[in-house]
Amino acid sequence: MKNEFKSWMTEMEEKSANTASSYCSSINSISQHYFEQNKKPLDLYTCDDILFVNALKKDYGIGGKYEEFGNKGKGTVRNAIAAYARFLEYKKSGGVIEVKTNKKRRSTNNTTKRNSRYKKYAIGSSQNSLIRNILSRLGNESFTEDDWKETKKHFTNRCAYCGTEDKLDMDHAIPINREKLGEHRLGNIVPACSKCNSNKGDKDYKEYLGSNTERIKIIEEYMNSKNYVPLEDNDKLRKILDLAYEEVSSIAERYITIIDDLFMRE
Ligand SMILES: [Zn+2]
Repeated sequence: MKNEFKSWMTEMEEKSANTASSYCSSINSISQHYFEQNKKPLDLYTCDDILFVNALKKDYGIGGKYEEFGNKGKGTVRNAIAAYARFLEYKKSGGVIEVKTNKKRRSTNNTTKRNSRYKKYAIGSSQNSLIRNILSRLGNESFTEDDWKETKKHFTNRCAYCGTEDKLDMDHAIPINREKLGEHRLGNIVPACSKCNSNKGDKDYKEYLGSNTERIKIIEEYMNSKNYVPLEDNDKLRKILDLAYEEVSSIAERYITIIDDLFMRE
């Protein structure tokens, strides 16, 4: 059942492969910990008793008797058992996701919709905003109005990608996201026409320009002239940002657990 749980997390809850793996190992840790505490062998991956798993979720949750163990890895253990409980509910209900436990608050016809909106968009966009915010604030220089004028002048008031003399917007040659690690600073900001801007999307300048090596060279020379060194090969930074990214969803899950507990007690 371990692999099934893993794919359910990545497919249905859009968790990253890293998170899904660490949740999977946490489930094993819980089986082990439970065995040590109760002298009863337990393999959660062979257990589909929802009531039992929900009881474990309480025990390893905030205020539960194994709270301390549940807090391990910034709450990874607690989040893992909560995810496992949702996974069993999902299996049992034959595909309909049920997250809320209080019937009074649940409107049956929009639960799935609301849930999928939360899973698919809200958290992902908060995670991306955090990464954008961090990357945009690295270093201490700021990109001024004069810098923008100078940048456009450098590119002779033309789009850096296609050379058209259209209305020009600021574009990050290397996009500011977790994968590309671009920054908002002089050297990475280039003028782009609205057509290139929207066609380029999340690609970096090299991917967008493809075989147009001449243009790629012009942009790279510009980056060099402004001492802009791309962060793309920095594994340490990437790992730190991955942590920040994951932490946003743990924060949400932590508060969901607290609020769910509140309604369960009422
Ligand atoms: Zn263009």
